[in-house]
Amino acid sequence: MRRAASLAVLLLLTACSPTGCDGTPPAPDKGPPPAPGDTVGPAEPPAEPPAPETPPEPEPVDWPHDPPGGLAPGSGSGATDPTVWAAGMRFPMKAGPAYANSQVYGYGGFAAPGPGGQCDPRNYSYPWRDNFCETRSWTNGLCPAGRGHQGQDIRPATCVKKVHEVVAAESGRITSIGSYTVTLLGDSGRIYRYLHMDMPGVHALFPDAASRTVARGQTLGKVSADFGGSATTIHLHFEIKAPVDTGSGATVMFVPTYPSLVDSYGRLLNGAA
Ligand SMILES: [Zn+2]
Repeated sequence: MRRAASLAVLLLLTACSPTGCDGTPPAPDKGPPPAPGDTVGPAEPPAEPPAPETPPEPEPVDWPHDPPGGLAPGSGSGATDPTVWAAGMRFPMKAGPAYANSQVYGYGGFAAPGPGGQCDPRNYSYPWRDNFCETRSWTNGLCPAGRGHQGQDIRPATCVKKVHEVVAAESGRITSIGSYTVTLLGDSGRIYRYLHMDMPGVHALFPDAASRTVARGQTLGKVSADFGGSATTIHLHFEIKAPVDTGSGATVMFVPTYPSLVDSYGRLLNGAA
């Protein structure tokens, strides 16, 4: 009998919580709600201001281009000097893509590597290739043979005449408009020559002496194939003449064009022409 009573007490204690015996767990005692201004718990540290977002640097745009002096096979011996003779010049076409290669040793040229016309896609593709010292009979003092091409051939984005704009490599003055050559004397003293543009279009843009002072990047004309009555392929032949110290004073002469074109085209592709 005593044992049964003890068991009942034990059961009673087991089933009941300190606040009741209905089986519901007791609500935690929260105490009175905090008065306004009271601090509850440790103060939160002030949030750090978000760091300003730094936009990722864009990857520089590059394009396949052979080194200076890397002429087309069989077309002569090139000038490998990487000197950028016209540092900071504007690429002479308004927009890319453009294709520096040979119009004589390319498809459709007099010394083509195989059958194909001037509009062959292989002429309108990379890599770029130097042709400043390409085999020609013209005097070219900085070429290994002392003779060469004097400039660089550049095809525009597409094989179409009178579409692609040619621009001033630097600010200066147009000193001559010939039957297929436009000469620009830059403010630096360098001379730039542009061959084979659409010449009626050039004359229309520069009708008189007053119009011939030009700003860097100003349109000079459009790429075509004019050649003083005959025609060549659709391309711009571009030259730079600059004073060169030959050991007995400075002589103005044709300087390798290709490194300055590589430099300026890279800036054009990267939006800093
Ligand atoms: Zn040429």
